[in-house]
Amino acid sequence: MTKLQEVLDEIALEAASATDRGAVAHYIPELAKVDPAHFGIAVALPDGQVLTAGNAETPFSIQSVSKVFTLSLALGKLGDSLWARVGREPSGNPFNSIVQLEQEKGRPRNPFINAGAIVIADLILSGHQPREAIGEIVRFIRYLADDDTILIDERVARSETAHGDRNASLAHFMRAFGSIDNPVDHVLGVYFHQCAIAMSCHQLARAGLYLASRGCNPLTGMQVVPVERARRINAIMLMCGHYDGSGEFAFRVGLPGKSGVGGGILAIAPGVASIGVWSPGLDTVGNSKLGTAALEQLTRRMEWSVFGA
Ligand code: GLU
Repeated sequence: MTKLQEVLDEIALEAASATDRGAVAHYIPELAKVDPAHFGIAVALPDGQVLTAGNAETPFSIQSVSKVFTLSLALGKLGDSLWARVGREPSGNPFNSIVQLEQEKGRPRNPFINAGAIVIADLILSGHQPREAIGEIVRFIRYLADDDTILIDERVARSETAHGDRNASLAHFMRAFGSIDNPVDHVLGVYFHQCAIAMSCHQLARAGLYLASRGCNPLTGMQVVPVERARRINAIMLMCGHYDGSGEFAFRVGLPGKSGVGGGILAIAPGVASIGVWSPGLDTVGNSKLGTAALEQLTRRMEWSVFGA
């Protein structure tokens, strides 16, 4: 057995017996039903191998991890003109904060806070019906993972739509500043559906491989984004991928990463690996508690931190 497989098995074993697992997200009722006992991890390597441990094949709601993929898609459509609409600085604020938006006149700090991702959804939607834009996002993620079985969990999408007042406030607020072009309910329809995409750790790790491999997906040989863009997306993940816990994640794990309130994290060791980890219990800022601990252990033992061993 390789050292990596041994490390993954030990991490999964330790996670299985953890007592303090954090709390599942409650503000989306469908996510509150998820069993906090789950734990899965998958590591995809540039040669196409995927090593897994725990519940690595169980689909979960990727939530904000989807923001990495929609940013990649939108950059492909708009190029760097996208940055006129959204910044690329860490927010230091919770994922759904409205305070900073007022101070900064409706231009979100970065594409990974909710406000920024809603602007990205608006950009992808322009010129299409919501159904087409949602289809485009799902097709893009299937293409990245090289897996046509990836689906949207409609129950999660409905649940979030029914309880999405906070995101609706952000969207209306931005539209008042002219930051959103399309009708708010259409934009939110796209945003809620992208968040409701369900993927396993295995699928997630494969989908992120282009970011570990200079923008090229080694599974298909396709250049998904130019090499410089992959480097920049990784930079934004490192600085902004965990909301106001981004500094702590860099400190403990030392990799570009993006979390979601479903308890998933996609982390990238550039040139080395793409990692999908899932444990539904969250810490106080909304990032997977055991997922972060698992990545901390993985990077320490494999010496994968971008900041050195
Ligand atoms: N769909 C969630 C929301 O908008 C995403 C938040 C997250 O995953 O961090 O509240």
